[in-house]
Amino acid sequence: MSKPCHSDTVLNAFAVENGEFIIGGIPLTRLAERVGQTPFYAYDRQKITDRVAHLRKYLPEEINLHYAIKANPMPAIVQHLAGLVDGFDLASGGEMRVALDTPLSPDNISVAGPGKSEREIGSAIAAGATLNLESENELETAAREGERLGIKPKVAVRVNPDFELKSSGMKMGGGPKQFGIDAERVPTVLARIKKLGLDFQGFHIFSGSQNLRSEAIIEAQEKTFELAYRLADDAPSSVKKLNIGGGFGIPYFPGEQPLDIASIGERLDDLLIEKQSRLPEAKVIIELGRYLVGEAGVYVCRVVERKLSRGHVFLVADGGLHHHLAASGNFGQVIRKNYPVLIGTKMDSTEIETASVVGPLCTPLDLLADKMELPGADIDDLVVILQSGAYGLSASPTTFLSHPAPVEILV
Ligand SMILES: *Cc1c(COP(=O)(O)O)cnc(C)c1O
Repeated sequence: MSKPCHSDTVLNAFAVENGEFIIGGIPLTRLAERVGQTPFYAYDRQKITDRVAHLRKYLPEEINLHYAIKANPMPAIVQHLAGLVDGFDLASGGEMRVALDTPLSPDNISVAGPGKSEREIGSAIAAGATLNLESENELETAAREGERLGIKPKVAVRVNPDFELKSSGMKMGGGPKQFGIDAERVPTVLARIKKLGLDFQGFHIFSGSQNLRSEAIIEAQEKTFELAYRLADDAPSSVKKLNIGGGFGIPYFPGEQPLDIASIGERLDDLLIEKQSRLPEAKVIIELGRYLVGEAGVYVCRVVERKLSRGHVFLVADGGLHHHLAASGNFGQVIRKNYPVLIGTKMDSTEIETASVVGPLCTPLDLLADKMELPGADIDDLVVILQSGAYGLSASPTTFLSHPAPVEILV
């Protein structure tokens, strides 16, 4: 079997039979016939289940695992995860509707995100979810909406910490940020929560995302517990929930290695012993998005044209950046790198060539693979982009250029 241009750890997660990529036990061409069209996203339910089991095995039993729905809000995935995780973290009213369709209790649902509307805040209170307050203004709105509804709002304070998660793909805490309430303002906010008589739940401290270095995550977790202990001194009641964030990354690019969960779990064992004496009533929550679903999904599109331009091979596909912005390199990447791309119908081929996979959009940004070593592909071959289970379709500009939308399936 050829292994074009990406780490074995990523590819070995999927089976290959008779030269074909297999997902959910189904050969790719057969799956494409079943779907009835390309392009499509396919998510492997067993891989999601295995991923949660892996975390449960290495993290302390007391850790509550939450799914951050933003990573992939497909209702079938959210339903599947409802039976596996302990809660959901949401960032919009739309995500809340998907979450509330599952059997998971609103007690284990929290709503974060800056700029929550009065309507979203009112809905969250009516649902019985916890509001992770991002500003003092949101606190006042929550109090007013609670009054109007005759319900005591459950609130937690999202804290913008006074430290950063080092070597993170995306920093979301430390320094000036639109997320959370600056740690130094939190005592004032806690006093106000007490005055307003709201149902204080605890703290949400999320410092960043897409981190592959366990030492950096451990360091951030240590600082997170310390910060929570300090802030708890001013809390209006006991801390019932302590969301310590997540940030667990997945390998996308050559040379990246999977995150070492075991060492994070080991350190957490100690941190939880200390927590037990300092904040005995607090449930500790880790919220994860891409780590749960990212590696379980692929994007599949079809080669519709093979073009040779001045010696360079272009495989023109029926899918592109309008379905998968992240793979085109335009979703937060500083330097464009190729996602792991395969020719799913030529997995055994030994005839390797340098080719670029482009989409049908009239823009040079519509590039799915830039000069990659790939098996020689023809019209009708299927292109597979791995690591596509998170921040794929829902993070893409589907209406750009008015091409048809892809289908999403859970297999
Ligand atoms: C985006 C986000 C997540 C999920 O991030 P991943 O990198 O997908 O794990 C978790 N929590 C909050 C607050 C977020 O904004």
